[in-house]
Amino acid sequence: MLRDAAVVVEGTRIAAVGAYRELRAAHPGAELAEVHGVLYPGFVDCHTHAVFGAPRLDDHERRALGEDYKAIAAQGGGILQSVADVRARPPAELVTLTRERVATLLAHGSTTIEVKSGYGLELEAELKQLRVIREVAASVPATLVPTFLGAHEVPPEFRNRRADYVRLVCEEMIPVVARERLAVACDVFCEPGVFSVAEARTVLTAARRHGLAVKLHADELDGSGGAELAVEVGAVSADHLVAVSDAGVRALAHGGTVAVLLPATLVFLGRRRPAPARRLVEQGAAVALATDFNPGSSPTVSLPLVAALGVSQLGLRHTEALTAITVNAAAALGLAGERGQIAVGFAADLVACDVSDWREVAYWLGPNRVSAVWTAGSACFVPRGPISLGPHVEA
Ligand SMILES: [Zn+2]
Repeated sequence: MLRDAAVVVEGTRIAAVGAYRELRAAHPGAELAEVHGVLYPGFVDCHTHAVFGAPRLDDHERRALGEDYKAIAAQGGGILQSVADVRARPPAELVTLTRERVATLLAHGSTTIEVKSGYGLELEAELKQLRVIREVAASVPATLVPTFLGAHEVPPEFRNRRADYVRLVCEEMIPVVARERLAVACDVFCEPGVFSVAEARTVLTAARRHGLAVKLHADELDGSGGAELAVEVGAVSADHLVAVSDAGVRALAHGGTVAVLLPATLVFLGRRRPAPARRLVEQGAAVALATDFNPGSSPTVSLPLVAALGVSQLGLRHTEALTAITVNAAAALGLAGERGQIAVGFAADLVACDVSDWREVAYWLGPNRVSAVWTAGSACFVPRGPISLGPHVEA
């Protein structure tokens, strides 16, 4: 951490970082933006499902009455409810909804945001979601990283012929998505009762053949060797990992796959068993945190809230939580060399928070302490007024 520091931005990149006095003397004509508080690298939200229609309040109420996630899904709630919604909703409405959500994520400091499809589960509806992401990306100052998640669930019309659906994903959807460059990565929900390890391997192998990066929803509920598969296929990330096996932890520690943990999802679903964050860190895995922003299991847009849960629910240190929403989250998107650090040559994506101690990024549960955001060197968000929550010490 630097005090009385300055960052020099040239164009869209960081040109220098160091002591204010020296950098001001070296760049006397530079336009100045003064920050009181703490300046962080722009946060990287490496796992969201931000393209959806309505929130799923019925699911939420059913859970309050004691039904669990899988029972609700079996009765037509869960992901399939969002699928019916997205299939029926005109693209223009999805663009408007998604643009507003991305603006809110950005206002909470996320400057690079991964966004998945996966509520279409048929060629045209999956393409519709990915085109919505492309359209929104062109009109917001955040960087959106699109991921194809056609294997999010088996759609109802393929219930009794799963192999046909896997074939459809591999032979019809992936080639079009890759050809039209609508996604940079392909994801699969690898979980007993959703897609098996063998099915996930088939989908991810097809994706790699078409030049897409790969990642997995792995070992979220019961676990089945998803983490081991992620390392085997060279995935950029394995996400969730609540039920990861010891062998899976070892594989992640020795492989190049980032372990993405999603503690807000556990809190929202009322689950008491957390992912083994400390074991992952101590054995040498790179741990990232993400919102998992989605209407069914994680309706939050705040990475700082997730970082606070990383400390309180997963036992991460504050340094680890901050690394998990910046450096490691960038690595989970294959962007380790250009995002997530305030360093020379990196994208000039910066977040100022109105706080007096850098650890406050992983402390406040809910209130937004972000006071300004820059992406690609340009100011893009300044809230209406300061938010005061305690004694103010200027740093
Ligand atoms: Zn997810």
